[in-house]
Amino acid sequence: MSYVDEVIEQVVKKNPAEPEFHQAVKEVLESLRVVVEANEEKFRKDALLERLVEPERQIKFRVPWVDDKGQVQVNTGYRVQFNSAIGPYKGGLRLHPSVNLGIIKFLGFEQIFKNSLTGLPIGGGKGGSDFDPKGKSDREVMAFCQSFMTELCKYIGADTDVPAGDIGTGAREIGYMFGQYKRIKGLYEGVLTGKGLSYGGSLARTEATGYGLLYLTQEILKINGKEISGMTAAVSGSGNVAIYAIQKAQELGVKVLTCSDSTGWVYDPEGIDVAALKEIKEVKRARLTEYKNYRPNSEYHEGRGVWTIKVDLALPCATQNELLLDDAKQLVANGVTAVCEGANMPTTLEATEYLQANGVIFAPGKAANAGGVATSALEMSQNSERLSWSFEEVDAKLQQIMINITHNIADAAERYGMPGNYVAGANIAGFEKVVNAMTAQGI
Ligand code: GLU
Repeated sequence: MSYVDEVIEQVVKKNPAEPEFHQAVKEVLESLRVVVEANEEKFRKDALLERLVEPERQIKFRVPWVDDKGQVQVNTGYRVQFNSAIGPYKGGLRLHPSVNLGIIKFLGFEQIFKNSLTGLPIGGGKGGSDFDPKGKSDREVMAFCQSFMTELCKYIGADTDVPAGDIGTGAREIGYMFGQYKRIKGLYEGVLTGKGLSYGGSLARTEATGYGLLYLTQEILKINGKEISGMTAAVSGSGNVAIYAIQKAQELGVKVLTCSDSTGWVYDPEGIDVAALKEIKEVKRARLTEYKNYRPNSEYHEGRGVWTIKVDLALPCATQNELLLDDAKQLVANGVTAVCEGANMPTTLEATEYLQANGVIFAPGKAANAGGVATSALEMSQNSERLSWSFEEVDAKLQQIMINITHNIADAAERYGMPGNYVAGANIAGFEKVVNAMTAQGI
């Protein structure tokens, strides 16, 4: 049995009931096969793959808090410090009822390669909790965040592990957590990113993931001889990534026809109204059913359906495994040009393979959504030098980082004889740097 197959088998055996983690490991190791097989003996002897798939540290903790009725609630908190070969652990905190160790491990594993691709010195980590911020009062969210940080603060720091936002963790949650860290540790340091502008946040961090997705999409289309302006797009999701992806897409001359939330989706033939979307999602924290009040010509549908619309670009910006094989078939039948992932692992393995086999340009999340964490690393730099850069400066750096990532993944794919396979390119390019650093630092 080949070394890659052996390690995949071990991961499945050793980590039962973690299907998302298995999926992420399979996807990465499959595309590293060419690299590993070129030097299999050395990889095996150094146990490089076993070391790669085993987190350096996993922390699981109790998060008790009191709700508005005086009832004590208990959630589970996680931080997986996956790999610190190239820098302090870096990665978001997901607050969603679906969170469990397997989900955090898949996200942490992806984060290693994503962070490496940014070209900045950040290792891979991820955390979160099964707490559901939906429908909670501000005070309840604060109580949860304070309790969560009371335990997490023992394991993080500006030079060791720097968490940030993810699904369910936005500016409000980061603020409450930062306050609690400072209160307990007495340290005013850049321990979190995605902070508010008045206390050490970076301009353009809020926009960065969505903007970065479009910078990469534009560049990857260019490499393939296509012009983004004048295209149509379907976007899923309506959170931070989706909102700023839609905004930047429109600035680049793309008409975005859809967006969605956990219960339904919107089709707006005139193009999604970003101001309305922001008001509904960020100010009112309401459902997309409200969108029709702002745009009478739009349609709201219950359930899922954004991938049924005929578009040139599909930009999944909601969550993992939201674009399935049948969706991929529908997109191909409708003549889609490119699928670029704003979320982490939104496309299943079968759907990805189908899209690639049918000539669709496919950019994986670990490259396409790296603008968020890249700008987090820029926030860390600003915190270290106790300065803040202008929006234009950060945005220009972000643009350059996304252009570099696009060319790096295209070049890596070509180097290993798989031109146009950006999944392989991203995994290989991300892996090379991490593995060099791991080897250099010994056992
Ligand atoms: N949660 C984001 C991601 O998936 C951002 C992480 C960060 O900024 O540290 O990459």
